Amino acid sequence: MSPHVDETIAETSLSETADGDIVTICTKCDGELDPGERTPTVATMEDGVTVYLFCDEDCKATFQSD
Ligand SMILES: [Zn+2]
Repeated sequence: MSPHVDETIAETSLSETADGDIVTICTKCDGELDPGERTPTVATMEDGVTVYLFCDEDCKATFQSD
């Protein structure tokens, strides 16, 4: 069993939703995301932590203004 490291938690939260599903598409336009690229994210903490990933800042801004 590996120890809990903050960096690991942060990386996990970027690639998984609260349900544990791996998210590899843009939340806004369903465009495919490159896992190696740094993508804009929005995190909410309503029912646990949910992290939304976006292909670019435009999709993120559109999502937040909805
Ligand atoms: Zn997008």
